[in-house]
Amino acid sequence: MMKQNGILVHSTGARWPLPPFFHHKYHPQHLHYSTKRSLRVVKAAMSNTAGQVIKCKAAVSWEAGKPLVIEEVEVAPPQANEVRIKILFTSLCHTDVYFWEAKGQKPAFPRIFGHEAAGVVESVGEGVTDLKPGDTVLPVFTGECKECRHCKSEESNMCDLLRINTDRTVMLSDGKSRFIAKGKPIYHFLGTSTFSEYTVAHVGSVAKINPAAPLDKVCVLSCGISTGLGAAINVAKPKKGSSVAVFGLGAVGLAAAEGARISGASRIIGVDLNASRFEQAKKFGVTEFVNPKDHDKPVQEVIAEMTDGGVDRSIECTGSIAAMISAFECVHDGWGVAVLVGVPNRDDSFKTHPMNLLNERTLKGTFFGNFKPRTDLPRLVEKYVNKELDLQLEKFITHEVSFSDINKAFDYMLKGEGLRCIIRMGA
Ligand code: NAD
Ligand code: ZN
Repeated sequence: MMKQNGILVHSTGARWPLPPFFHHKYHPQHLHYSTKRSLRVVKAAMSNTAGQVIKCKAAVSWEAGKPLVIEEVEVAPPQANEVRIKILFTSLCHTDVYFWEAKGQKPAFPRIFGHEAAGVVESVGEGVTDLKPGDTVLPVFTGECKECRHCKSEESNMCDLLRINTDRTVMLSDGKSRFIAKGKPIYHFLGTSTFSEYTVAHVGSVAKINPAAPLDKVCVLSCGISTGLGAAINVAKPKKGSSVAVFGLGAVGLAAAEGARISGASRIIGVDLNASRFEQAKKFGVTEFVNPKDHDKPVQEVIAEMTDGGVDRSIECTGSIAAMISAFECVHDGWGVAVLVGVPNRDDSFKTHPMNLLNERTLKGTFFGNFKPRTDLPRLVEKYVNKELDLQLEKFITHEVSFSDINKAFDYMLKGEGLRCIIRMGA
């Protein structure tokens, strides 16, 4: 082990993060108050529900773009290799909003959205040995079966069995939904469907974490923050003193900026169409700002002028195809690397002159920042809990609402207000 830029890395230069796995003793007095209270309630309620249908509340999206409706749903027990999770906190990521709006994505309704969350295992199905009732977990939208060639590769997190699949609406094992509302089956989303007090997920899409972690904070690590951070640290890998452009200054982009800062980048140029993002972004190490609306030439030309030919790295976190192309074309020839993170519309295509590649620019993309969800995410949580990583999750949490007010979280996201909105379940 050695320390580089303040973070522990393996001396083999292997993928980050590979800290020594630190086995904590469970000290209830260290638990965050809200987590402690919620865990107590959960444990009391959990013992007698295994194997039974649970009736609880879920926010059902009946129609594209229409407010979610809190309904009583029946959640079936977990089948083989599945776990049922009591969700305690969830938050809203822009990916949920795209599929709820269903403008550029395939519609599938009624559906229970949600994929950024934290909770506790209520019961487990047959064959589940890695998790047990009471375990503290983060469900993840892309899984890790640990057996396929991707899971066995050091380089990939694209699990053959459980990689992100936005079209899948049912459970893998039997092609059925585990949710019923008003007598109708309700579709799943990303294998997580966390906008429900209880949900069922494949065991390979669930990361077991240290129970001492504050769940109302680390829930944002189950998608957006790990994605942005990993896109910078694992994929773009900026060198010390380098320049990095970040397109899109929402939670994912600002986590990428944090990753660039932690890696030692000295210039971090934030690009966003929403000028109100810039003030907030100063807290995340962004040193310069560009609003494409303020210029009458393409933003890649503006950035090339600012940086004597282009940035060393760029990370796109917008979902806009125009921004993706600009993010690629603004990197320096000879060595520049661009990383795409935003989720495109289903009909988008990427167009650039091949000469931009021949001139030795590299284009990459990533889901979940190349982290393996079950292997790397618990370690990342550990680093956060042990303060080994200068990552202030509270900076990303700008709003909090009760479950009954979940539609407010959608309003904030649509208006571009704030970063992450925590939705407190059971309230
Ligand atoms: P967000 O809405 O909070 O932030 C996106 C930001 O991009 C906004 O500030 C918006 O003003 C800005 N933007 C939009 N179009 C732009 C353009 N053309 N140029 C410059 N800025 C522009 O969203 P978020 O939750 O931070 O997610 C960001 C993106 O990352 C989304 O596309 C989301 O679907 C995607 N995502 C991908 C992964 C992954 O694993 N690859 C994981 C999570 C989220
Ligand atoms: Zn997400």
